[in-house]
Amino acid sequence: MPPRPQIITSITAMQAQALAWRAAGKRIGLVPTMGALHEGHLSLVEAARKENDFTVATIFVNPTQFGPREDFAKYPRTLEQDIALLSPAGCDVVFAPTAEEMYPPHCTTAIEPPQVASVLEGTFRPGHFRGVCTVVLKLFELVPSERAYFGQKDYQQQLVLRHMVRDLNLPVKIVTCPIVREANGLALSSRNRYLSDAERNSALGLSVALQRVSHACQQGESDGATLRDLMRSTLTEHGIDRIDYATLVQADTLEELSVIRSPAVALIACHVGTTRLIDNQCL
Ligand code: AMP
Repeated sequence: MPPRPQIITSITAMQAQALAWRAAGKRIGLVPTMGALHEGHLSLVEAARKENDFTVATIFVNPTQFGPREDFAKYPRTLEQDIALLSPAGCDVVFAPTAEEMYPPHCTTAIEPPQVASVLEGTFRPGHFRGVCTVVLKLFELVPSERAYFGQKDYQQQLVLRHMVRDLNLPVKIVTCPIVREANGLALSSRNRYLSDAERNSALGLSVALQRVSHACQQGESDGATLRDLMRSTLTEHGIDRIDYATLVQADTLEELSVIRSPAVALIACHVGTTRLIDNQCL
């Protein structure tokens, strides 16, 4: 059994440890998370462990990426459980700073996100990617890493971060890991714990809609309107009536497609009860 990870809460201590590793020629794999960990997060740690000398998981519920009417206050915070999950995963350091540590009162600098942040989540969560880019860039500076691991679950997020890394010439490689799902298809999410049993059934609508679209594409259907209708009707069939988007876009630009051609991605964001869920599928 690997040893319990070292828990670091101060920026100075984290940066000192990371720089010492780098000075010794070691490669660091960084896994940024907001905690409330599940198998999806652990798959990122697993990938990082395989490809680097040291793995740092960060647990930080980043206030700047939540809108004023979003679930920042009630977002699950389960640090002890998270550490227990990370220990057998072979994580070397858990960096878990407080909000005051990351954003002292003088901290007013922020990152202007790239163009691909302006659609989809950017429309429904104004300011979200500004918060994401700012905190991730801070983490990259705190933990100078060879590679940073993100989930395809947040498709647009990993794309936004890839563009940020490219545009700002950051010396880190973004690695995108596949979506981990329950056996029934539901994509694992920290927010799934908000769902009642009935809502969990409704939530299956997201993965079913994506499976149907994928199947239809494989059968030769390429009409965007038909495929969007298929996604919407599947969500409605599962009792989901508040849909932020259910769409098909070009995989690199996120441009809406009227005729589907590869590489494309189908993306859904919708509300199940009071819980907002997202999922996607590459086509
Ligand atoms: P979060 O804690 O929700 O900010 O997620 C931290 C990282 O875990 C992000 O890169 C997510 O995309 C990734 N992640 C979340 N859920 C999953 C999942 N079901 N499969 C793979 N990666 C995931």
